[in-house]
Amino acid sequence: MQTERKTFDISNISVRFGDKTVFRDFSLALPKNEITCVLGPSGSGKTTLLKVLSGILPIEGFCSPKCSFVFQDHRLIPYLTALDNLAIILDGDNVSRKERARLMLSDMELKEAENLYPHELSGGMAQRVAIARGLLYEADILLLDEPFKGLDLGLQERLIKYFGKYWEAKRRTTVFVTHSILEAILVADRIIILDKGEEGAKVVYDKAVTLPRSARALGDPEVDALRKEIHDILVAL
Ligand code: ADP
Ligand code: MG
Repeated sequence: MQTERKTFDISNISVRFGDKTVFRDFSLALPKNEITCVLGPSGSGKTTLLKVLSGILPIEGFCSPKCSFVFQDHRLIPYLTALDNLAIILDGDNVSRKERARLMLSDMELKEAENLYPHELSGGMAQRVAIARGLLYEADILLLDEPFKGLDLGLQERLIKYFGKYWEAKRRTTVFVTHSILEAILVADRIIILDKGEEGAKVVYDKAVTLPRSARALGDPEVDALRKEIHDILVAL
Protein backbone atom coordinates (compact mmCIF):
# COMPACT_ATOMS: atom_id res chain seq x y z
CA MET A 1 0.00 0.00 0.00
CA GLN A 2 1.28 3.48 -0.83
CA THR A 3 1.14 6.03 1.93
CA GLU A 4 0.55 9.62 0.89
CA ARG A 5 3.67 11.74 0.98
CA LYS A 6 3.89 14.31 3.75
CA THR A 7 5.90 16.67 1.62
CA PHE A 8 5.60 18.31 -1.75
CA ASP A 9 8.93 17.70 -3.38
CA ILE A 10 10.98 19.74 -5.75
CA SER A 11 13.70 17.44 -7.00
CA ASN A 12 16.90 18.34 -8.81
CA ILE A 13 15.69 21.39 -10.68
CA SER A 14 18.07 23.58 -12.63
CA VAL A 15 17.40 27.13 -13.82
CA ARG A 16 19.80 29.28 -15.84
CA PHE A 17 19.39 32.71 -17.36
CA GLY A 18 22.09 33.06 -20.01
CA ASP A 19 25.31 32.18 -18.25
CA LYS A 20 23.82 32.79 -14.81
CA THR A 21 22.97 29.68 -12.80
CA VAL A 22 20.16 30.39 -10.34
CA PHE A 23 19.55 26.74 -9.40
CA ARG A 24 21.58 23.66 -10.14
CA ASP A 25 20.22 20.28 -9.07
CA PHE A 26 18.26 22.03 -6.38
CA SER A 27 15.90 20.02 -4.21
CA LEU A 28 13.50 21.06 -1.49
CA ALA A 29 10.78 19.17 0.37
CA LEU A 30 7.88 21.40 1.38
CA PRO A 31 5.91 19.98 4.32
CA LYS A 32 2.27 19.71 3.25
CA ASN A 33 -0.27 21.91 5.02
CA GLU A 34 2.47 23.99 6.60
CA ILE A 35 3.88 27.44 5.97
CA THR A 36 7.47 27.48 4.76
CA CYS A 37 8.96 30.96 4.91
CA VAL A 38 11.84 31.74 2.58
CA LEU A 39 14.34 34.44 3.47
CA GLY A 40 17.54 35.34 1.66
CA PRO A 41 19.41 38.16 -0.03
CA SER A 42 18.10 39.85 -3.17
CA GLY A 43 18.87 37.82 -6.24
CA SER A 44 19.15 34.52 -4.36
CA GLY A 45 16.33 32.97 -6.36
CA LYS A 46 13.27 33.32 -4.10
CA THR A 47 10.95 34.65 -6.78
CA THR A 48 12.38 32.21 -9.31
CA LEU A 49 11.57 29.35 -6.92
CA LEU A 50 7.93 30.49 -6.75
CA LYS A 51 7.81 30.81 -10.54
CA VAL A 52 9.08 27.26 -10.91
CA LEU A 53 6.56 25.95 -8.38
CA SER A 54 3.67 27.71 -10.10
CA GLY A 55 4.71 26.65 -13.59
CA ILE A 56 5.18 30.26 -14.75
CA LEU A 57 8.73 29.17 -15.43
CA PRO A 58 8.33 25.72 -16.97
CA ILE A 59 10.95 23.15 -16.05
CA GLU A 60 11.23 19.87 -17.88
CA GLY A 61 10.14 17.01 -15.67
CA PHE A 62 8.53 19.22 -13.03
CA CYS A 63 4.78 19.07 -12.80
CA SER A 64 3.43 22.11 -11.02
CA PRO A 65 0.42 21.78 -8.70
CA LYS A 66 -2.61 24.08 -8.75
CA CYS A 67 -1.24 27.28 -7.24
CA SER A 68 -2.58 30.53 -5.87
CA PHE A 69 0.09 33.19 -6.38
CA VAL A 70 0.26 36.57 -4.63
CA PHE A 71 2.81 38.51 -6.65
CA GLN A 72 4.98 41.41 -5.54
CA ASP A 73 2.77 43.68 -7.66
CA HIS A 74 -0.99 43.38 -7.32
CA ARG A 75 -1.94 42.18 -10.82
CA LEU A 76 -5.64 42.96 -10.32
CA ILE A 77 -7.96 42.97 -13.31
CA PRO A 78 -8.22 46.70 -14.17
CA TYR A 79 -11.81 46.72 -15.41
CA LEU A 80 -13.26 44.93 -12.34
CA THR A 81 -14.03 46.48 -8.95
CA ALA A 82 -12.18 45.22 -5.88
CA LEU A 83 -15.22 43.11 -5.00
CA ASP A 84 -15.46 41.58 -8.46
CA ASN A 85 -11.72 40.92 -8.57
CA LEU A 86 -12.37 38.54 -5.67
CA ALA A 87 -15.77 37.21 -6.72
CA ILE A 88 -14.50 36.19 -10.15
CA ILE A 89 -12.14 33.56 -8.73
CA LEU A 90 -14.79 31.93 -6.51
CA ASP A 91 -17.18 29.11 -7.31
CA GLY A 92 -20.89 29.18 -6.62
CA ASP A 93 -23.81 31.44 -7.40
CA ASN A 94 -23.43 35.18 -7.77
CA VAL A 95 -24.89 36.06 -4.38
CA SER A 96 -22.74 33.67 -2.36
CA ARG A 97 -19.58 34.60 -4.25
CA LYS A 98 -20.13 38.30 -3.57
CA GLU A 99 -20.96 37.58 0.04
CA ARG A 100 -17.70 35.71 0.63
CA ALA A 101 -15.75 38.36 -1.25
CA ARG A 102 -17.39 41.11 0.85
CA LEU A 103 -16.56 39.33 4.10
CA MET A 104 -12.93 38.95 3.08
CA LEU A 105 -12.66 42.62 2.07
CA SER A 106 -14.10 43.64 5.39
CA ASP A 107 -11.56 41.52 7.29
CA MET A 108 -8.79 43.12 5.24
CA GLU A 109 -10.08 46.55 6.31
CA LEU A 110 -11.21 47.25 2.76
CA LYS A 111 -14.95 47.66 3.17
CA GLU A 112 -14.83 51.13 1.62
CA ALA A 113 -12.96 49.80 -1.41
CA GLU A 114 -15.63 47.33 -2.55
CA ASN A 115 -16.82 49.32 -5.52
CA LEU A 116 -13.55 50.97 -6.45
CA TYR A 117 -11.51 49.96 -9.48
CA PRO A 118 -7.79 49.10 -9.13
CA HIS A 119 -6.67 52.53 -10.43
CA GLU A 120 -8.75 54.17 -7.68
CA LEU A 121 -7.01 52.20 -4.91
CA SER A 122 -3.83 53.23 -3.12
CA GLY A 123 -0.87 50.89 -3.60
CA GLY A 124 -1.38 49.37 -0.15
CA MET A 125 -5.10 48.83 -0.73
CA ALA A 126 -4.53 47.15 -4.09
CA GLN A 127 -1.93 44.93 -2.46
CA ARG A 128 -4.44 43.92 0.22
CA VAL A 129 -7.04 43.06 -2.41
CA ALA A 130 -4.41 40.87 -4.07
CA ILE A 131 -3.64 39.12 -0.77
CA ALA A 132 -7.36 38.60 -0.20
CA ARG A 133 -7.69 37.08 -3.66
CA GLY A 134 -4.73 34.78 -3.03
CA LEU A 135 -6.26 33.53 0.20
CA LEU A 136 -9.69 32.97 -1.31
CA TYR A 137 -8.58 31.08 -4.40
CA GLU A 138 -8.84 27.33 -3.85
CA ALA A 139 -5.51 25.81 -4.77
CA ASP A 140 -3.19 23.08 -3.57
CA ILE A 141 -0.32 25.46 -2.88
CA LEU A 142 -0.38 29.09 -1.84
CA LEU A 143 2.61 31.17 -2.96
CA LEU A 144 3.25 34.65 -1.59
CA ASP A 145 6.07 36.91 -2.77
CA GLU A 146 6.68 39.58 -0.13
CA PRO A 147 2.95 40.23 0.24
CA PHE A 148 3.14 42.79 3.05
CA LYS A 149 6.07 44.77 1.67
CA GLY A 150 5.60 48.50 1.77
CA LEU A 151 2.55 48.48 4.04
CA ASP A 152 2.79 50.54 7.20
CA LEU A 153 3.77 48.62 10.32
CA GLY A 154 0.46 48.66 12.19
CA LEU A 155 -1.44 47.47 9.15
CA GLN A 156 1.22 44.88 8.46
CA GLU A 157 0.79 43.44 11.95
CA ARG A 158 -2.99 43.31 11.69
CA LEU A 159 -2.86 41.70 8.25
CA ILE A 160 -0.48 39.04 9.50
CA LYS A 161 -3.13 38.20 12.11
CA TYR A 162 -5.89 37.97 9.48
CA PHE A 163 -3.61 35.97 7.25
CA GLY A 164 -3.02 33.55 10.15
CA LYS A 165 -6.74 33.30 10.83
CA TYR A 166 -7.67 32.46 7.23
CA TRP A 167 -4.72 30.20 6.85
CA GLU A 168 -5.67 28.18 9.96
CA ALA A 169 -9.13 27.58 8.48
CA LYS A 170 -7.69 25.92 5.36
CA ARG A 171 -4.13 24.96 6.25
CA ARG A 172 -2.82 24.86 2.73
CA THR A 173 0.75 24.11 1.79
CA THR A 174 2.23 27.60 1.65
CA VAL A 175 5.49 29.15 0.53
CA PHE A 176 5.86 32.65 1.90
CA VAL A 177 8.77 34.77 0.67
CA THR A 178 9.64 37.75 2.83
CA HIS A 179 12.46 40.09 3.75
CA SER A 180 11.11 40.53 7.26
CA ILE A 181 12.55 38.19 9.89
CA LEU A 182 9.76 39.03 12.31
CA GLU A 183 7.06 38.39 9.71
CA ALA A 184 8.64 35.00 9.01
CA ILE A 185 8.77 34.09 12.69
CA LEU A 186 5.15 35.14 13.23
CA VAL A 187 3.74 33.00 10.41
CA ALA A 188 6.14 30.14 9.68
CA ASP A 189 6.08 26.46 10.57
CA ARG A 190 9.48 26.32 9.00
CA ILE A 191 12.00 28.97 7.99
CA ILE A 192 14.63 28.49 5.34
CA ILE A 193 17.32 30.86 4.12
CA LEU A 194 18.42 30.71 0.49
CA ASP A 195 21.82 31.98 -0.50
CA LYS A 196 23.10 32.50 -4.01
CA GLY A 197 26.31 31.01 -5.29
CA GLU A 198 28.28 30.35 -8.44
CA GLU A 199 26.87 26.84 -8.46
CA GLY A 200 23.33 28.05 -7.88
CA ALA A 201 21.30 28.80 -4.77
CA LYS A 202 21.65 26.69 -1.63
CA VAL A 203 19.55 26.34 1.50
CA VAL A 204 21.92 27.54 4.21
CA TYR A 205 19.47 27.44 7.12
CA ASP A 206 16.43 25.30 7.78
CA LYS A 207 14.53 25.38 11.02
CA ALA A 208 11.11 24.34 12.29
CA VAL A 209 9.28 26.92 14.40
CA THR A 210 7.30 24.96 16.96
CA LEU A 211 6.09 27.70 19.30
CA PRO A 212 2.28 28.04 18.88
CA ARG A 213 1.47 30.95 16.56
CA SER A 214 -0.73 32.57 19.19
CA ALA A 215 2.23 32.75 21.58
CA ARG A 216 4.56 34.44 19.11
CA ALA A 217 5.25 38.07 19.80
CA LEU A 218 8.15 40.45 20.17
CA GLY A 219 9.58 40.14 23.65
CA ASP A 220 8.97 36.42 23.89
CA PRO A 221 12.43 34.98 24.68
CA GLU A 222 12.15 32.19 22.09
CA VAL A 223 11.05 34.64 19.37
CA ASP A 224 13.80 37.10 20.24
CA ALA A 225 16.47 34.40 20.25
CA LEU A 226 15.33 33.10 16.86
CA ARG A 227 15.29 36.64 15.48
CA LYS A 228 18.86 37.17 16.54
CA GLU A 229 19.95 33.79 15.18
CA ILE A 230 18.41 34.48 11.75
CA HIS A 231 19.59 38.09 11.72
CA ASP A 232 23.18 37.02 12.37
CA ILE A 233 23.08 34.54 9.50
CA LEU A 234 21.52 37.02 7.05
CA VAL A 235 23.99 39.83 7.77
CA ALA A 236 26.89 37.43 7.26
CA LEU A 237 25.72 36.38 3.77
P1 ADP B 1 15.04 37.12 -5.47
O1 ADP B 1 13.57 36.99 -5.63
O2 ADP B 1 15.62 36.21 -4.43
O3 ADP B 1 15.48 38.53 -5.24
P2 ADP B 1 15.08 36.28 -8.24
O4 ADP B 1 14.55 34.90 -8.18
O5 ADP B 1 14.17 37.33 -8.71
O6 ADP B 1 15.73 36.66 -6.83
O7 ADP B 1 16.35 36.29 -9.19
C1 ADP B 1 17.44 35.38 -9.06
C2 ADP B 1 18.50 35.75 -10.07
O8 ADP B 1 18.03 35.43 -11.38
C3 ADP B 1 18.85 37.21 -10.10
O9 ADP B 1 20.23 37.33 -10.34
C4 ADP B 1 18.07 37.76 -11.26
O10 ADP B 1 18.70 38.85 -11.83
C5 ADP B 1 18.05 36.58 -12.21
N1 ADP B 1 16.82 36.55 -13.02
C6 ADP B 1 15.56 36.32 -12.56
N2 ADP B 1 14.67 36.31 -13.55
C7 ADP B 1 15.38 36.53 -14.69
C8 ADP B 1 15.05 36.62 -16.09
N3 ADP B 1 13.78 36.48 -16.49
N4 ADP B 1 16.03 36.85 -16.95
C9 ADP B 1 17.32 36.98 -16.54
N5 ADP B 1 17.70 36.90 -15.26
C10 ADP B 1 16.76 36.68 -14.34
MG1 MG C 1 12.03 38.44 -5.49
